[in-house]
Parts: sequence; C-alpha cells; structure tokens
Amino acid sequence: MAIGKVKGCCNLRETVCYISIGSNQGDGRQNCRNALTLLDKVPGVNVLTISPCYRTEPVGITEQDWFINAVVELKTSLSARALLREMLNIENIMGRIRELKGGPRIIDLDILLYGQEVIAEDDLIVPHPEMHNRRFVLEPLNQIASFAIHPAFGISIRGLLERLSDNRIVEKIT
Ligand code: AMP
Repeated sequence: MAIGKVKGCCNLRETVCYISIGSNQGDGRQNCRNALTLLDKVPGVNVLTISPCYRTEPVGITEQDWFINAVVELKTSLSARALLREMLNIENIMGRIRELKGGPRIIDLDILLYGQEVIAEDDLIVPHPEMHNRRFVLEPLNQIASFAIHPAFGISIRGLLERLSDNRIVEKIT
C-alpha cells in the first residue's frame, strides 16, 4: 500500500516547521487568518498551533502602518522548497504586490525553522537569517515553542529572546 498523507494523520516523513505571518494592509488580522486557512488546505500541510497575534512596530521602513504578526507551528510532508513555493503562491493569491522591499504588504509568510535543517541557497535560507534579531518573531515564537532550538546557534528560542537587543514595540493583542 502506498504511503499517503491524510489530513489529521501523521507519517514518519513529516517535519515540524515554524512560519512567521504578517500583514500591514487592510484588515491585518483577517489577512493572517485567511493565509492560515489557505496554508492548512495545502496537501501535505497540517497547521498545529497558532501563536497569539501581536501589533508590531515596522522594521526598516518606519513610515508605514504597524503590522499584525503571529507565528504558526505546522507539520508537513513537503520539502522546505516545496513549502516555500506554496507560501509564495498564497501571497500571490492574496494579491501581494512586491513594490518596495520592506514596504507595506497584505501578507508576508516566511519559513523560520524547518525541523533542524540548515539551508543556505540563493533563494532559501533556513533558519530565517533575521529571526534571531527580531522581537516581532521571537515573542510569538516563544509563546508556542520556547524550547525549540535554533540549529545554527544551538540556542533555544527563550535563550535568543533573552539575548535580543531589538527594542521595537510588540504588543500582544489576543
Ligand atoms: P520577502 O517576502 O520580501 O520576505 O522575501 C521573499 C523571498 O525571500 C522569497 O522569494 C524567497 O526566495 C526568499 N527567501 C529566502 N529565505 C526565505 C525564508 N526562510 N522564508 C521565506 N522566503 C525566503
């Protein structure tokens, strides 16, 4: 019998991943919810845990609306590259227009951690190269996976948060 992925079941090839999700255009909370619904519908993806939502000060370009951010734990039988492709597809379906790097966006999905894999390719870097520098990532991630280890640094999320110097404001809103 072929081994298949059935929603709600596990197989041995699944990987636990953490994805960051953000929006600062329109109804940010609803945009994050919509993206999560689409992500959970992808064959081979099961959303397991969703962090609280945060209202966060923008990074880089500060003259833009504050973001809604959250982090999601999921299990997937997809490779990191296939998962990224699905995430970019969801961004496109939701109407993301890439005008200004770091500028306003209806939805932004990033792979933070893909199991304990370390990937350094031109268009895919995992763990996400900025995750350890960003309070808007580490605060929600710490709520659902304080124990998870950053595979390149060998430090837990709680440990990264304790070492963090980013003082931009993040406010829990749920
Ligand atoms: P942005 O949406 O501006 O965050 O950038 C998206 C681009 O970053 C994608 O086209 C990816 O090829 C690239 N990228 C590299 N590493 C990652 C990652 N860990 N998660 C999401 N996108 C990534």
